[in-house]
Amino acid sequence: MIQKPVTEVKGIGEKVAEQLATMNIYTVEDMLEYFPYRYDIFEKKPLHELIHDDKVTIEGIVVHDPSLTFYGRKKSRLTFTVEVDGVAVKAVMFNRSFAKKQITSQSWITLTGKWDAHRLQITVSNYQLGRMEEKSAIKPIYSVKGDFTSYKFQKLISNTLKDSVTEIKEILPATYLDQYKLPSRENAVKTMHFPKDRVELKHARRRFIYEEFLLFQLKMQLFRKKHRESTTGNRQDFDQEKLTSFIKSFPFKLTDAQNRALKQILNDMKDPHRMNRLLQGDVGSGKTAVAAICLYASVTSGQQGALMVPTEILAEQHFQSLQQMFGERAEIALLTGSVKGKKRRELTEKIENQKIDIVIGTHALIQGDVFFKNLGLVIVDEQHRFGVEQRRVLRDKGLHPDVLFMTATPIPRTLAITAFGDMDVSVIDQLPSGRKEIETLWVKANTFDRILDFVRKRVDEGEQAYVISPLIEESDKLDIQNAVELYHQLEAYYSDDIRIGLMHGRLTANEKEDVMRQFAENKIQVLVSTTVVEVGVNVPNATIMIIYDAERFGLSQLHQLRGRVGRGEKQSYCILIAEPKGEIGKERMRIMTETTDGFELSEQDLQLRGPGDFFGKKQSGMPEFKVADMVHDYRALETARDDASIILENNLLEEEDYQQVRSILEEEINRMEKLD
Ligand code: ADP
Ligand code: MG
Repeated sequence: MIQKPVTEVKGIGEKVAEQLATMNIYTVEDMLEYFPYRYDIFEKKPLHELIHDDKVTIEGIVVHDPSLTFYGRKKSRLTFTVEVDGVAVKAVMFNRSFAKKQITSQSWITLTGKWDAHRLQITVSNYQLGRMEEKSAIKPIYSVKGDFTSYKFQKLISNTLKDSVTEIKEILPATYLDQYKLPSRENAVKTMHFPKDRVELKHARRRFIYEEFLLFQLKMQLFRKKHRESTTGNRQDFDQEKLTSFIKSFPFKLTDAQNRALKQILNDMKDPHRMNRLLQGDVGSGKTAVAAICLYASVTSGQQGALMVPTEILAEQHFQSLQQMFGERAEIALLTGSVKGKKRRELTEKIENQKIDIVIGTHALIQGDVFFKNLGLVIVDEQHRFGVEQRRVLRDKGLHPDVLFMTATPIPRTLAITAFGDMDVSVIDQLPSGRKEIETLWVKANTFDRILDFVRKRVDEGEQAYVISPLIEESDKLDIQNAVELYHQLEAYYSDDIRIGLMHGRLTANEKEDVMRQFAENKIQVLVSTTVVEVGVNVPNATIMIIYDAERFGLSQLHQLRGRVGRGEKQSYCILIAEPKGEIGKERMRIMTETTDGFELSEQDLQLRGPGDFFGKKQSGMPEFKVADMVHDYRALETARDDASIILENNLLEEEDYQQVRSILEEEINRMEKLD
């Protein structure tokens, strides 16, 4: 079949095969699916439309026989004049002395090269005798390694195609080929390497985009289905009455969106399958309350719960608020990296004996010395800050708890259906009533005095402010230095009637805790901080968020920071101090002032940054596609997702038309079965 080694192609020996291997090409199939990464498109345009320094293609009649001059060793220059649309254009060609004989006066010639619009001169890189056959020509450009040139590589592709083109089998079901008018796989492969025109190329690409997405979606959805059916799940028989009374003890009524999400999660917990669910909700939408109820559900079913958060500050804060909410209902403990020695041993022993019902902590929670007797539910807050690896650790410890990931970074629909195609998703898309929209302003640095006066007025009214110091990405140290400087500056400015606090990553856990407590108790009115306060921190009395050098942050991060205010009943403000140089920076500031809707913001962020940057490259685990692009082709992605779910719902993989897809997936299915 087409899985045969490349050496079976005429003209490919061991030596060439070795080079191909460095490009991860081993089989004929690898070879044929090694598509160009871009195409040079030559289009004939009138002279006056040509752009200086661009690569252009022109055709004309040679006026004189070319003249050839040699210089240096073996170096030559060939020059001649061509009449193009009645204009004399000078052509220059280097080191192609042999062309002198071919190019003759009064004959047509097509030239491609760099255009000098001032001198009406073309430096030729490519020429063809005669007129252009078509109005345009497309040249594929491959990403090659070693001795290959794109041209040489294309030759090999050409040989391979001659050899094996008939062996390229269709894999997409005829139903969908017809429905979307996609070219056959055989034709599409040929076109990708030797496109005749743009339209043909577009359809070939369309075909592969759909193929990649459909297979990907089928894999993801199969995986999710397996997960659902897996018997190693966890059934939690919680006490609904106790839950109801717990919810009644809250000082507020749950929003409809909270209730809806809660119901979905509790259903999963009750069910014997293992929950794998993402809870999305904008900052301040009340995810913590929902998390608390779910943790309590585990406790009433006789099991333990764990809440993992990304920072110690956040762990501390959740610990306090949960203790307050739960009262006598459950034993709650805080376990972070700074709990050490004897204290730690005592705590881990209690966890092991289930003397503790709920543990809150950073990833210290899942480290080697922590064992749970009966872990029913794990909640991971701000999950994108946890590496994929850390998520697996619990499972590898032989624990099969229900898992709920929570995130306040609204994940764009486009990414959610790919990155999390294997998860169920609940969304809290509603803020508790009575909240006022945060007013966001974008100002220049020279207005700082006015901003400080504004802060003073608010503080006089009993409110509080955050000031985020400039971020220096390359250096932790400079970051902190900046914060310290700003802190001193503000202290001097306000002399002693306003107390300033300082928060950054180098403080010890105790120091951080101390600062946060003082801020929460309004003993500190203005908190200068690096971005460590970004996630989850909740001080409802703070109404002003000032962000220095805001252009250095991504939209999601700005939104997170902004989410630290607007948590109470009072009007809140977010002030972005920024002087962005580039268009993207300006665009970001504009978007921030225009919307407070996290979902809309995240879509825009994705457009500006691209998917790789969205979660940070390392953690993203984003799938890679050969042709498709998740952002630009997301409509195709949605189509493929819907088709995949129809295929699986109706068990169509069993049918004749789906044999090829099925056999491709089978390998994947086997792998999954080993995993579970
Ligand atoms: P998130 O974790 O989603 O950012 P929190 O759970 O911290 O949001 O909630 C933000 C604030 O809103 C908290 O002070 C919380 O007590 C309060 N809150 C939560 N749910 C409601 C509700 N249904 N009605 C009013 N206030 C609520
Ligand atoms: Mg369950």
